[in-house]
Order: sequence, then C-alpha cells, then structure tokens
Amino acid sequence: MSGLFDRPGPIPDSDLWLFVSRDEVVVCCLCKITRGTRVRDLATRDLDEMLAHLDEHRDAGHRVPNWLAEHLRTEWRNLPWITNGALK
Ligand SMILES: [Zn+2]
Repeated sequence: MSGLFDRPGPIPDSDLWLFVSRDEVVVCCLCKITRGTRVRDLATRDLDEMLAHLDEHRDAGHRVPNWLAEHLRTEWRNLPWITNGALK
C-alpha cells in the first residue's frame, strides 16, 4: 500500500482525511469531531495523540479502518521530521 500521506483525498473506506501540512504536522482535515466547534482540526506530531484521536472518531461512529492504526505507526517513522522515532 502506498503512503497515506502521498495521496490526496480521504483515506479509502473511512471518514478521515489525514495529511502532512507545510508546517510538518499531521492534520485531521475536515475533522468531523471538531467541525462546528471553535476547535481547529487536530494537528499534531504526536503519534499517540493521533491514535487517541482515531479512537474518538471510532467512538463517534465514524468509519476508521482497522488497518489504519498499524499503518500510521509505520508511516510515522518515515515522516521527514522524525529520526529514530524522536523529533529532530
Ligand atoms: Zn479528526
């Protein structure tokens, strides 16, 4: 499977659209949890925070593929600002 962050648009079979912003944070774009609130879309470099956010989506009844968390763990290590699992 190609990189989640390499392709534009929502993640297949999900209600999520994650992308890496120019500020080098991962953004939950058009987030259905923060929509309608004053909170902006979740933007984080913290994998655990993003994984917890996925659980929030799942709890809210949104479609979150089972493969996504493991896939994110793998891709997170390849993000440009991560070296050996730590922030540069
Ligand atoms: Zn979200």
